[in-house]
Amino acid sequence: MIRTRSRIETDDKFKWALEDLVGSDEICQVGFRKIKKSLLDIKKFKGQLNNLEKLEQALELFLELSQKFEKFLVYSNMRLHQDTQNRYYQALSGEADILKVEFNAAISFIEPELLSLEESYLRNLSEKNVKYKHYIDNLIRLKGHVLSPEIEKILANAGDYASSYDNIFSMLNNADIKFDPVIDYKDNNIKHKLTHGNFLTFLENHDREIREQAYNNYYNPFLSRKYAITAIFSSSIKSDVFFSRTRKFNSSLSSELFSFNLPDNIYKDLIKKVNNRLDILHRYLEFRREKLGLEKLKAFDLYVPIFKKIKLEIGYEEAKSIVIEALKPLGDDYAVKLSDAFNKSWIDVYENKNKRSGAYSWGAYGCHPFVLLNYNNKLNDVFTLAHELGHAMHSSYSWSNQDYLYSHYTIFLAEIASTVNEILLINYFLDKYKNDNDMTDYLKNHFCEEFRRTIYRQTMFAEFELKIHELAEEGEPLTFEYINKIYRKLNKKYHGEAVEFDDKSDFEWARVPHFYNSFYVYQYATGFSIAYGFAERILSGDKDFYLEFLKSGSKDYTHEIIKKTGFDLSNPDFIDKTLDKYNDLVIELKK
Ligand SMILES: [Zn+2]
Repeated sequence: MIRTRSRIETDDKFKWALEDLVGSDEICQVGFRKIKKSLLDIKKFKGQLNNLEKLEQALELFLELSQKFEKFLVYSNMRLHQDTQNRYYQALSGEADILKVEFNAAISFIEPELLSLEESYLRNLSEKNVKYKHYIDNLIRLKGHVLSPEIEKILANAGDYASSYDNIFSMLNNADIKFDPVIDYKDNNIKHKLTHGNFLTFLENHDREIREQAYNNYYNPFLSRKYAITAIFSSSIKSDVFFSRTRKFNSSLSSELFSFNLPDNIYKDLIKKVNNRLDILHRYLEFRREKLGLEKLKAFDLYVPIFKKIKLEIGYEEAKSIVIEALKPLGDDYAVKLSDAFNKSWIDVYENKNKRSGAYSWGAYGCHPFVLLNYNNKLNDVFTLAHELGHAMHSSYSWSNQDYLYSHYTIFLAEIASTVNEILLINYFLDKYKNDNDMTDYLKNHFCEEFRRTIYRQTMFAEFELKIHELAEEGEPLTFEYINKIYRKLNKKYHGEAVEFDDKSDFEWARVPHFYNSFYVYQYATGFSIAYGFAERILSGDKDFYLEFLKSGSKDYTHEIIKKTGFDLSNPDFIDKTLDKYNDLVIELKK
């Protein structure tokens, strides 16, 4: 067995320079104390926002404190992620968590108080300080669904327990549910631990028995709690219906889209457009079935690679040059920032003992962003590197071009920047390996899988969420049998004849934590489609629109930011174009 390196053994040049964010641990601790004291200052503004001077002062102080606190919060958490067993950083990030609760409590009066003020008065603030224009516009828009102060107070008080379903599911899913191990009967009956984190790895195993066993062992504990899980899920849907009705929305969906001011059609158009092209996915799955030599695919056959495994080792230095080369179409300015990311210690590259798993990009305004990796010399790690750098560059551009107030881009926009980089990378690899058939097949299939998982699977989830909410709105009881029946129908519709489903796959919805955050996952599918359109344009030499996009943060509504790039969410034909590309890929792959 290979021993995992301790952090001290890793060369500093592969570690991130978190001191760029907050000079030292001591500074962070002092910072927490100062912020805690300043919370008293902000509380003093309570009941005084109807005075324009005070209102502006309160908002300035709020922004200043948020920005500072964010920096310390991010710092203490990222320090902990380097080594999750480090006692000192456990305590430091624990302090941040406590302060976060106090911080939110201290500022909780601001939004309700603002929403209770007259529109004309609020407009005076935008006139006094133009920085606040979009902020105030959005606030006034939200006022349309604000209720009387007494009702608002009741809703705020109910909010905590009305969303307890999320916590209950999370406890069940992460603490109570335990999986039987997967036993490798062909290798001395070795027992492998099965977790949420490694379930997918078992589904990628070439041994079908292992896949089936992992699948059964994973679903069994869910199925044995099927009535309780259905009750939790159903209460989460009812909570959505209750709040959207109380706030006078036509449906839970329009309530959700309203909060981001997204056009009403985007959600249903996505479903419609993907439904029109289900034949492509059916053909891809039929091809997968043939390649695996199976009579029918089962749900546990959807992730196993269908081409020869590529034994490609790509060291980190090589990965860096690959990513720099692949992202060249984004121009010199982007390249300079990218070299900063590589040369100025933005990235924590290698795994070490007790380091947080996976990968992410994070950081805080006023400093450059950071990237956490667990780089392991695999082709997939190069994709992860490009993906996370997409987020990091997006943050870097937005932070250096926007005021703090508008520096955070929405989730809807976030995955576009990371996906653009992945598509540019695939393109680069396809060109580099154009004479290597094995590699080309592997890459094309990788791309096909992205389409399947990001567009089709997430759209199926979106259609499921919509259906369930509509039924609840019509007053239908959401029973276990009824929900499963709906899920089976969708599974069959999306996957076609090549796949055979069973009682476990009917219950897949029960294990998707995202369903407790309603109407969220469709953004992966729209984001991918937009990113594909962006990448096409970038590859044809047009990149300026994209840099402007990266610089936008949240200075305007999401759909306005997208509109400036020439894409229109109220008429999303770009989805068709992305699906055309999928069609071409499947045809090429079959050849
Ligand atoms: Zn991402």
